Amino acid sequence: MKAVCWFGKNDVRVEQVPDPKILNPRDAVIKITTTAICGSDLHLHNGYVPTMQKGDILGHEFMGEVVEVGDAVKNLKVGDRVAVPFTIACGSCFFCQQQLWSLCDNSNPNAWMLEKVYGYSGSALFGYSHMYGGYAGGQAEYVRVPFADVGPVKIPEGLDDEQVLFLTDIFPTGYMAAENCNIQPGDTVAVWGCGPVGQFAIKSAYLLGAERVIAIDKVPERKRMAEEHGKAETLDFDDQDIFDKLKEMTGGRGPDSCIDAVGLEAHGKTIDAVVDRAKAAMFLATDRPHALREAINACRKGGTVSIPGVYGGFLDKIPFGAAFAKGLTFKMGQTHVHRYLRPLLERIQKGEIDPSFVITHRMRLDDAPAGYEIFKHKQDNCIKIVMKP
Ligand SMILES: [Zn+2]
Ligand SMILES: [Zn+2]
Repeated sequence: MKAVCWFGKNDVRVEQVPDPKILNPRDAVIKITTTAICGSDLHLHNGYVPTMQKGDILGHEFMGEVVEVGDAVKNLKVGDRVAVPFTIACGSCFFCQQQLWSLCDNSNPNAWMLEKVYGYSGSALFGYSHMYGGYAGGQAEYVRVPFADVGPVKIPEGLDDEQVLFLTDIFPTGYMAAENCNIQPGDTVAVWGCGPVGQFAIKSAYLLGAERVIAIDKVPERKRMAEEHGKAETLDFDDQDIFDKLKEMTGGRGPDSCIDAVGLEAHGKTIDAVVDRAKAAMFLATDRPHALREAINACRKGGTVSIPGVYGGFLDKIPFGAAFAKGLTFKMGQTHVHRYLRPLLERIQKGEIDPSFVITHRMRLDDAPAGYEIFKHKQDNCIKIVMKP
């Protein structure tokens, strides 16, 4: 089959690789009908994630048709159309039982690698390095889905791929980020980053009852999407001091919650951002947490900082004193996608949201190397790319 493979920093190629097979009775093989490039795939493309190996198949946002099931998979049959969570979960361990699916204890055969760095390992992920399990991803013609009796959700008739594909990651990720804010009626939510996850965080904040969402970015087309589709007010961080502006817009109190949908590769012009870039370039720091610092500083006393943006290592100059002094609550982590699949599918069915609004580019899988470049450099007003084999 054809698959998008990682060969190093800035080097992805479409290669011929062996078809996946059932290895375990709880596996299924899915024929991919639509897949996407995610912002977190760019961390791989930029060489930020260790334990990648040449030839690894990328992709963790994908859906398709079941073509083969293992003996133990009773809930799926050949021909079913499914969307597959990017986190892999067994469904029966302590963490899965508590709905903490992205912390599954059983899905990562290389848990020891993450344990060395983090003490304990979270769940495995599709197409996201060997420390996250080394599972082949779904930017391919076929993919093996482990624990297929637990993860994939069947898609009812009448919904097209583009409406449901983002149930696999970015819609639940934005939704969980908003849910983590414990939004109360009248709340103002500030969102750093108007990429796809930021867009879904904005929409979800309103779905969960926010009165006002203020979104921060500098890319014109992302801001436009946040305004037109998300009904957010937007701020350009190149134009003004974000802290001062947010304070002014909230009557001197600050936003009730702040969502950092940027993560480890934040851009900024302030001194700390420039220092981050220099240190990351010299391997002295592992992340560039400029957006997070700003979110912590801007958040009102007693508010919540919610972090769907991905961080990997040791964060420098985090104003923890400010967080303590203001009594902030922090919520973060890999999305518990399994928890949100069905409720969010229902919201799509009811017409409360059509996630396809984020798609700006449609491509063939063969064009993935160009797609990564376009997406990374935000060329051609690109916000989200979907691909079909
Ligand atoms: Zn993703
Ligand atoms: Zn589990």
